[in-house]
Amino acid sequence: MTEHSPSSIYGPVKSWRLGWSLGVDVLCVDSICSFECVYCQLGKINRVTAEREVFVSTEKILDDLQKSDWQKADVITFSGSGEPTLAKNLGEVIEKIKELTHKPIVILTNSTLLHDEKVRKELLHADKIFCKLDAWSDETLRRFDHPHNSVSLEKIITGINHLRHGFDGFFAIQTMILRPMNDFEIEELAEIYHLIKPDEVQLNLPTRPVPKDYFVETRGNEVEYNQSFTQLKTISKTELEKIRQKLSNLTKLPIITR
Ligand code: SF4
Repeated sequence: MTEHSPSSIYGPVKSWRLGWSLGVDVLCVDSICSFECVYCQLGKINRVTAEREVFVSTEKILDDLQKSDWQKADVITFSGSGEPTLAKNLGEVIEKIKELTHKPIVILTNSTLLHDEKVRKELLHADKIFCKLDAWSDETLRRFDHPHNSVSLEKIITGINHLRHGFDGFFAIQTMILRPMNDFEIEELAEIYHLIKPDEVQLNLPTRPVPKDYFVETRGNEVEYNQSFTQLKTISKTELEKIRQKLSNLTKLPIITR
């Protein structure tokens, strides 16, 4: 890393569900993920991998934190330029930031590494975990999230389940609804939610622009686009509400939409 490398800390940014959220980006040398979701706000994932490694040193992250406005944040959120569990030093960074700030820690994960017990142990220090689960079959997983070839839906669901049942904090599932769903598909998804029994399910629509290429500012939510971007077509809010109601009736879980 050079001294001109971007800060691994950004914000605080206003989040509709978390208040003022300070972002920690344990990957900010590039866009790095085990998925290449069609709706990814980072635009392009330059390194598609399922291998853990240290991308940004713990020392640099703590140094960037000290230079930031962390005191103004309500929560500290790990998300950033891809999948945070790919960072081998994630557990150490979570513990050190918690010690330093005493703020609640939130993790946004795409769930692909949760089958690894070591990853799950590192996440136990968080206060809230939001797990992505967009698909109800390997076919929809491939179509929506373009996973690394080592990833399967079964592995994802097993990992989420293990984590859910060993974690005492707030545990939510986030699902991006990418197209209309028929009753069979809704039932399949409801069955998976029912198995996991999260504290909450959040259904989202892909409303954020998808830039052509990754640049580090795409990790935040106030981005100015100097390059072309795509705006995905979404289903209507009314259609989303119908899906929400059906899922809610089938699972009896708190299911919310934005
Ligand atoms: S999991 Fe997140 S970072 Fe990775 S490709 Fe999907 S939206 Fe982008």
